[in-house]
Amino acid sequence: MEALRQPIVCVLGHVDHGKTSILDSIRGTSLMKKESGGITQRIGATEISIQRIIEISGGKISSKMFKIPGLLFVDTPGHVAFANMRTRGGALADIAILVIDINDGIMPQTVESINILRKFKTPFIIVANKIDTLAYFIKPENTSFSEFLKEQRQEYIDELDNKLYAIINQLYQHNLTADRFDRITDFTKNVSIVPSSAKYSIGILEILMTISGLAQRFLTPSIALINNLAKANVLEIRREESLGMTLDSILYQGKLKTGMAVYVNTSEGPKETKIKALFTNVSSKSTKVTERSVVNSASGVRIAISDKLDVIPGTTLIEAKGDIDSIIKELQEESQVKIDLDEHGIT
Ligand code: GDP
Repeated sequence: MEALRQPIVCVLGHVDHGKTSILDSIRGTSLMKKESGGITQRIGATEISIQRIIEISGGKISSKMFKIPGLLFVDTPGHVAFANMRTRGGALADIAILVIDINDGIMPQTVESINILRKFKTPFIIVANKIDTLAYFIKPENTSFSEFLKEQRQEYIDELDNKLYAIINQLYQHNLTADRFDRITDFTKNVSIVPSSAKYSIGILEILMTISGLAQRFLTPSIALINNLAKANVLEIRREESLGMTLDSILYQGKLKTGMAVYVNTSEGPKETKIKALFTNVSSKSTKVTERSVVNSASGVRIAISDKLDVIPGTTLIEAKGDIDSIIKELQEESQVKIDLDEHGIT
């Protein structure tokens, strides 16, 4: 059986539709249960193990259903972040969550997000958020969507259906066939909509399950753990007094080790440097980070480098091994690519 890495998940959607709240709720729900294992706050990303998702499901899913080790949520939501986090093959995120406010429906940035997801051919699910704002809502005992629904009156269920159909119609006008996740039979033709309330954590379990299922079904070749050159996407560059230059990155291929020689794009073109130190976890109680000698993909990681370089944010960091000329060429091509996002109104 082929080993798979964690799919990288990004959250997109119109402003105020609840992207940040959904991410918070995913973190909160996953932490809520007794033991706190299985969820790790990485640099720039949050990792949730499949074991943790199985536990939250309360026996609804089993480990036999999944080969992925978990999900890695990028902490920065939005379509601009999504479009800026790139790999040679396309977007850094393997999978996306498109958040739509159930009352507002499709808004300009929802359309931009759909266009960008199409452009990068990224599979996605839709989350219809803020279902607690609909009339006749009864505060739930249970946060699983299907259990929550059993506690609601018929008037609420009808209202939810009306709002969902309105969104499904709007999506259809944008050439997307979508339906509520539990009514879909053919997942290759339909986009799943998971109704949610970030405020009450309703539907978070179903979001995690639907993404895991989608990843399992559609991503197997692209998330295979191949023993390839280590590659990371550099999100943020800092200068730290004790460490010198650090690059907050998402490692999406291979493994990083201290002492490893790597290439990055700088204002003077591709340059070689060495990994001085690696850090992954951020503790919630302090700003302390955990030092590691080896980091496996996929993970958020802070990389301290030996040289003072003018590193370009967004660059790929590539392990310097094998055919160095082709690594340099890859980085040169990357810096030349003029990302044409104007058509989506992103500049
Ligand atoms: P973002 O701009 O898409 O990241 O949206 P935020 O997560 O910042 O949410 C925007 C506003 O909507 C905030 O005031 C949230 O408290 C509120 N909000 C988000 N999710 C929900 C929800 O499920 N129910 C309700 N009632 N309010 C929500």
